[in-house]
Amino acid sequence: MSGVGVSSGRAAGPLVRVAEPLPDPPTTPTPADPDSEATRIRPAAEAVANHLFTRAAGAGSAGRTILETTAAMAMDPALISRAEQQVTEQALPAARAVLEAADTFADALREAGGYLSERIRDVRDVRDRIIAELLGVAPPGVPALEGPSVLLARDLAPADTADLDPELVLALVTEEGGPTSHTAILARSLGIPAVVAVRGILSVDNAVAAVVDGEAGTVEVSDRPVRIEAAEHVTDRAWNGIGTTADGMRVSVLANVGSVTDTQTAVEAAAQGVGLFRTEFCYLAASDEPDVDTQRSAYAEVLTAFTGKPVVVRTLDAGADKPLPFLDSGTEPNPALGVRGVRVSFERTAMLERQLEAIAAAAADSGAEVAVMAPMISTVSEAIWFVERARAAGIRRAGVMVEVPAAALSIREILGAVDFVSIGTNDLAQYVFAADRTLGALAELNDPWQPALLRMIATIGHAGEELGKPVGVCGEAAADPLLARVLVGLGVTSLSMVAASVPAVGSALAGHSLAVYRQAAEEALAAPDPARAREAVHAVLG
Ligand code: PEP
Ligand code: MG
Repeated sequence: MSGVGVSSGRAAGPLVRVAEPLPDPPTTPTPADPDSEATRIRPAAEAVANHLFTRAAGAGSAGRTILETTAAMAMDPALISRAEQQVTEQALPAARAVLEAADTFADALREAGGYLSERIRDVRDVRDRIIAELLGVAPPGVPALEGPSVLLARDLAPADTADLDPELVLALVTEEGGPTSHTAILARSLGIPAVVAVRGILSVDNAVAAVVDGEAGTVEVSDRPVRIEAAEHVTDRAWNGIGTTADGMRVSVLANVGSVTDTQTAVEAAAQGVGLFRTEFCYLAASDEPDVDTQRSAYAEVLTAFTGKPVVVRTLDAGADKPLPFLDSGTEPNPALGVRGVRVSFERTAMLERQLEAIAAAAADSGAEVAVMAPMISTVSEAIWFVERARAAGIRRAGVMVEVPAAALSIREILGAVDFVSIGTNDLAQYVFAADRTLGALAELNDPWQPALLRMIATIGHAGEELGKPVGVCGEAAADPLLARVLVGLGVTSLSMVAASVPAVGSALAGHSLAVYRQAAEEALAAPDPARAREAVHAVLG
């Protein structure tokens, strides 16, 4: 069966299914004493949170953050009191009340749309754990593993994947999910193969074992046991904190951050700096534009962790999948094609100027080597417009993201106007393929191994080489150790990714020389599809 390979390597072993969510608890029987029934909810939520905190203590840094966030969500006072109210006012059994209270929250997130709607799965995960605790049944999720196994799930919640043991989990396979899902990110950081969006795999009867190929994006299911095979753990190789090819070409290995927690993880992973600081993540919940001082201290919290190191601060990338409450741009029929990213600043230039002022001040406070870049640049004049404003704010280095195909087609002129560019492969893929990046059904088109996407990256990389300007990649493509080396072969000079992937990518770079990466890149460009591109590159890089 085929899906989208999101973490490379080959593994085989017995299939273990991740339990599906519990059926909805019934509205009856009506509790004899609603007040005492309501008092059961808080201890159940606390038990769930404690269990998650215990798991967090034993997890790696990326997993710990996810588990702690989920634990905090389980203890959300608004969720608990709403559920208690449902019991006392509507005489519902506690488990049903938790379901209804959590669903109200999920509905609100869905209405908020975009980035916030991705949190719905987390709310449901917490809901199901509290319900299982109240009913005294096993929680949904990954069962205790008795030996090396291939995990099969509809989709994995972040808390399911956060503390997976790479010694026991041979590979991950999901029926849903896409290249930028949590399953993909965590599988890569653990160095285990993963294939997502394998349509129909949950309906295969009698499947007891599987052979998973993360390069080809295939899963062979078997009704008989197969010989256990584990992928080599890329993370086992040493990462010494200096990104370089075997022949000594330096490639900065940087982290993407959006919060202080991410920053700590980036420092622990020995990232060489930050290639993408998503400032909008500091403000997703703000109801008014934060003033300059508030912004300055929020940015400084991240920047001070990188004194003397490079940090690229991206100006507000609001709109589309990241709506900000204080930026009401009205309803747009196609938000991904709407007034988003830098386009917001053309209408509200003073707001951009306030942000640049705060960034410049935070840079001075921190001693980090700060650069700024604008998201969603489409034309040369937009790039010039942004760079002028950055310079006026006293920021020396200014660049732009290349995530709109028009910018890639004008890359020489754009490079002439800026100090550097950074390719946002997540959006570039969505716009090159006209395929919504949040839709599981279009995951294959958003696969960063698509040769057409790689060709567009090659155009940018080669222009950067000719003009002597740095070209970075800060989309998910950079987090795949195999693809990251292809990007270097295409002329990319820095890679920025989720911090958890830094050691795997950083250490993988040292495996071969630039000439070998160029050859691998040629093979990928010539391939007819993503699976064959991976295979061809694997044959070159081993
Ligand atoms: C991208 O589009 O690849 C990118 C890095 O930006 P974001 O994911 O924040 O849109
Ligand atoms: Mg983007």
